[in-house]
Amino acid sequence: MIETKNLSCGYTGEPILKGVSLQIAPGEFCALLGPNGAGKSTLLYALMGYLKADRGEVSIFGKDIAHIKKNYLARQLAFVPQESVQEFDHKVSETVLMGRYPYLGLWQAHSAEDRHAVDEVLEQLKLEDLKDRWLSELSGGEKQRVYIARALVQNTPYILLDESLSQLDINHQLEIMSLLKDIHSKHGKTVLIVSHNLNLAANYADRLIFLKAGELLAEGKPETLMQTDILQQLFGIRLKTALNPNSGRPNIIYP
Ligand code: ADP
Ligand code: MG
Repeated sequence: MIETKNLSCGYTGEPILKGVSLQIAPGEFCALLGPNGAGKSTLLYALMGYLKADRGEVSIFGKDIAHIKKNYLARQLAFVPQESVQEFDHKVSETVLMGRYPYLGLWQAHSAEDRHAVDEVLEQLKLEDLKDRWLSELSGGEKQRVYIARALVQNTPYILLDESLSQLDINHQLEIMSLLKDIHSKHGKTVLIVSHNLNLAANYADRLIFLKAGELLAEGKPETLMQTDILQQLFGIRLKTALNPNSGRPNIIYP
């Protein structure tokens, strides 16, 4: 269980998140939604322990994240960033192999098992043909799939994704969502995904979390939250919804 209790934090002393209390139970598939600047990425950084709480706390399995060893945390939580600032160029296969770092001992080299895990995930994400390419030679969407692959080889119970579908075409968006749903149902992986694709979120996630101006506006099942009034509170626009016969979930009908 990941839990925030009355969490306030920010970057410059000014609070961005203001008293957020949230629980993500093992085995959940949640989507975090809200307008630009709402604090979605900030919340993920706090859950990953990158940002310290100014008030309140973040805990994982009941332990305050501020006092947990980084290596232990990296075996619990994998993070797929929105976009990665690339300081150094790496080959695709090396980048994915980096996901195995929490399992390395001091001075220990990667094992055959690590490389096997990488090959498996590259195949799963249909990235085999790109494995010897440099990241700098990839499209934004290809890079996003590489970062998703890196998070999957990390083999953690929790995976947090920050707008990781934003640069993918519709085919790859659906493919990644289905893959996440698949590992979620088969391996009980807990997924928390930030997305601006409300319909995709409503169709795949079991719980939506609405964040507005650093505060939790609402959370609940897509059936309850994908409604005109609450969506207006969140995004400031009146959106019509209707039941999608394929997913059985309400979807936005674009004007
Ligand atoms: P979202 O992911 O929902 O679009 P963010 O969490 O990125 O929102 O940002 C929330 C607020 O925090 C914004 O007002 C943004 O300008 C501010 N912010 C984000 N990153 C930083 C930073 N590194 N330093 C200062 N302010 C930041
Ligand atoms: Mg963001």
